Amino acid sequence: MAIYSIVKIGDPVLREKAHEVKEINNTIKKLLKNMADTMYDAKGVGLAAPQIGVPKRVIVVDVGEGLVELINPEIIECSDETEVDIEGCLSIPGIQGEVERAKRITVKGLDGEGNSVVIKAEDFFARALQHELDHLDGILFVDKVKRFVD
Ligand code: ZN
Repeated sequence: MAIYSIVKIGDPVLREKAHEVKEINNTIKKLLKNMADTMYDAKGVGLAAPQIGVPKRVIVVDVGEGLVELINPEIIECSDETEVDIEGCLSIPGIQGEVERAKRITVKGLDGEGNSVVIKAEDFFARALQHELDHLDGILFVDKVKRFVD
């Protein structure tokens, strides 16, 4: 088990567009494993590779329904219906705010074995996925926040 240190806002890696993963090899598998360990250690519900300083399109999410690992994730469907709820980010400690997100999304990507997967998500799971996907494009929740909360 390896715990990475989490990059904080202000670090340019968080603003980069992350690169597509070309090959699922042991380096990527190890990255996924260590990212999950880091997320659980930090008591987060999601982590994107740029948050540990690796500009690759890799995310892990666990909103309490089990670990989801996604490589090169893409949103392929998105509800018009939206929801506003409170978010935070491991890279922006101590700050929370209300963000509007699609209520339901469908995401496709590759799992840790390189198999294609399609995930339908709603509510908090959909929110967590959208938050992590934004990280891959250098977008932070504070860019979208409607209102900061204490
Ligand atoms: Zn975040």
